[in-house]
Amino acid sequence: EVEVAIKVVVVGNGAVGKSSMIQRYCKGIFTRDYKKTIGVDFLERQIEVDGEDVRLMLWDTAGQEEFDAITKAYYRGAQACVLAFSTVDRESFEAIESWKRKVENEVGEIAMVIVQNKIDLIDDALVHTTEAEDLAKKLRLRFYPTSVKENLNVEEVFRYLAGKYIER
Ligand code: GDP
Ligand code: MG
Repeated sequence: EVEVAIKVVVVGNGAVGKSSMIQRYCKGIFTRDYKKTIGVDFLERQIEVDGEDVRLMLWDTAGQEEFDAITKAYYRGAQACVLAFSTVDRESFEAIESWKRKVENEVGEIAMVIVQNKIDLIDDALVHTTEAEDLAKKLRLRFYPTSVKENLNVEEVFRYLAGKYIER
């Protein structure tokens, strides 16, 4: 049986919740191939989509995004991407299109999704969900509001990407 394995990169400004999201989704199961040496690593989780076993490898950064210093190795071979911003960080929302371009410059067009994290902080929101929906519409991408803290919609994001990849 041929197993489907998907490399997923999770990008966005620092502190939007990327590492938290990956850890939440994968429940702390580290792979043996921990890639500390090249400054990147991934966690993985296996799910079933349309009767197929899919192995999702979620690549995390070690904070290099803060310095715009993500290496090519991080993007190489990526088949799906989460573009993440935070409800309480306006700049992180405004950076979404530039993250999309960065990913596409490295790997071309792949399955992508826009994620508005920290939706639990909606009372202090600096980005309205309607703005995010408009951006998603413009970029023709699916949009998910999430709260990693409250475990809201995290599963759905990765299930969507896996399904999108499989249907291609
Ligand atoms: P990264 O730099 O994008 O990897 O962000 P981190 O995962 O390190 O998260 C940055 C901070 O945001 C941490 O203090 C997290 O606990 C917090 N955080 C992450 N997700 C959420 C969320 O959904 N809600 C709230 N309130 N805080 C979150
Ligand atoms: Mg991080």
